[in-house]
Amino acid sequence: MKINIIGGGVSGLTAGCFLQMNGFETHIFEKHSIPGGLCTSWKKGDYTFDSCAHWILGSDKGSSFYKIWSEILDMKKIKFHNHDIRVEVGTKNHANKYGEKNFKLYTNLTQLENYMIDLAPEDAKAIKAFIKPMRVMQKFDLPPILDDLPFFQSMIRGIKMVRYLEFLYWFLKIKNYTNYTYAKKFKNAFLRESFELLYDGEEVNMMVLTMPLSVFDKKSAGYPIGGSMEFAKKIEQTYLKLGGTMHYKTPVKKIITEHGLAKGVLVRNDVTHLSDLTLSAADWHYTVFEALEGKFVDQHMLDLRDLKKFDVFYSVMQFSFGIGKDLSDFPHFSRIPLDEAIESPDGTKYTRFEVHIYNYDDTLAPKGKTAVTVSFYTTNRDFWIDARKNDRPKYRKAKEEFTNKIIELLDKRLGGIKEYIEVIDVATPATFQRYTGNWKGSTQGWLPGKNLLAKSPVGFKLPGLKNFYYSSHWNQPGGGLPIAIKTGRDVAKEICKEYKVKFKTISQTK
Ligand SMILES: Cc1cc2nc3c(=O)[nH]c(=O)nc-3n(C[C@H](O)[C@H](O)[C@H](O)COP(=O)(O)OP(=O)(O)OC[C@H]3O[C@@H](n4cnc5c(N)ncnc54)[C@H](O)[C@@H]3O)c2cc1C
Repeated sequence: MKINIIGGGVSGLTAGCFLQMNGFETHIFEKHSIPGGLCTSWKKGDYTFDSCAHWILGSDKGSSFYKIWSEILDMKKIKFHNHDIRVEVGTKNHANKYGEKNFKLYTNLTQLENYMIDLAPEDAKAIKAFIKPMRVMQKFDLPPILDDLPFFQSMIRGIKMVRYLEFLYWFLKIKNYTNYTYAKKFKNAFLRESFELLYDGEEVNMMVLTMPLSVFDKKSAGYPIGGSMEFAKKIEQTYLKLGGTMHYKTPVKKIITEHGLAKGVLVRNDVTHLSDLTLSAADWHYTVFEALEGKFVDQHMLDLRDLKKFDVFYSVMQFSFGIGKDLSDFPHFSRIPLDEAIESPDGTKYTRFEVHIYNYDDTLAPKGKTAVTVSFYTTNRDFWIDARKNDRPKYRKAKEEFTNKIIELLDKRLGGIKEYIEVIDVATPATFQRYTGNWKGSTQGWLPGKNLLAKSPVGFKLPGLKNFYYSSHWNQPGGGLPIAIKTGRDVAKEICKEYKVKFKTISQTK
């Protein structure tokens, strides 16, 4: 059975790998000349700028996602870097008892607990109550593969259920807290301000903080040395080894349908590729409203299109600099308050900025030099997308003027780097949209908002269309690489079930 897959991002590649393992003939049509989609990095001069895999959930055995990654990658052969500090958050109004105005979010939970109690012994009770659920989560670790969910089948599974109940108790206790409401529990003003600023002043459910931290502590959310593109290429290599076919520089224009059946794809130069099944792992909006011309929708999908149910995840402006200086003494990732707010050309006001110094990956820059990125998240992405489309000089000017402001900020922060800047690269929401097709330049599909357990808004099927499937980070609010591989694997499994093929996997870890 032949399956055409649209999109060679992580979800499309993963689906391709599992379908090949199960005897299907697959072809991936990718509009770009490289694999990975949003999981990418790019070269400019002597530098590589990375844009995705700051941390990969399941990089080691401490997360059950390791099992899925191991089915498509030889994880033991990939070098991951585990940070001691997740992020340093600069405060503006309050210093800690040592006079420091930066909060260190340690990845080791014991260290984090000791650090916080040292700074604020008066808050020991609230600090311990912050750490405890993460310890419980570590025992729980929801298996991404639903077959592994411990229901009532055996005694051992029954014992696991008790752990789940413990998790449930703690989950219910913290589920309604945000970093803001939790901050109120602290008497210490420095801790209070630090917690409020953890997400750049955004109010975020505490699970967004605690779930990853529980995995960081187990060193199972590492950064792959070499960057995102090298990581994506490894998945592509598995796919090719399993006999799959990549068609690069082959944008799909239309999904061909006849009497409610998907028949194949129409690609550039009006070439047709017929298949038994079509799987789109490309952008949701493009798939439904362009490739299928909005013919297979229901009210729910129209509501999604009109943003009545979810917002689109933030887009990003990424300013990347190749700096001819050793910056190994600086924190690798920090959020820094600005003395004066700055306004982006798209109208968003920022009171802080986020700097990523890749001083832990020497493959990204020549010896003694450093790749640095500054990111600003925005929802005013239409400004960039429209300007690039309709007024290129305005787009270029906006980029240039804002870049100059960023250089000033960076120069101040890193103690005089202006004259060491060798390479500059600017990516806007328009860039991400253009290269990957993601609607409004979204970096992670839908924004989950406060409802972290929101039901999946987009399923594997579309109403009224047979022989068609859909999988990508748009299937589950929050997106990210774990969702991309999980949906890729799950859709392959769904296809196997429908065509009565017993789903099998092959571990790639030797
Ligand atoms: C700045 C940034 C930082 C991030 N950080 C992290 C992180 O630290 N951890 C994490 O887990 N996730 C992170 N993410 C999110 C993660 O990269 C994405 O959620 C994930 O890569 C999405 O994979 P996907 O396969 O679902 O979609 P995509 O990557 O969007 O893949 C879709 C593919 O379809 C192709 N395509 C689109 N239209 C067509 C067409 N018409 N014809 C042919 N091909 C087409 C695209 O070119 C692309 O290759 C980050 C993303 C960004 C941008």
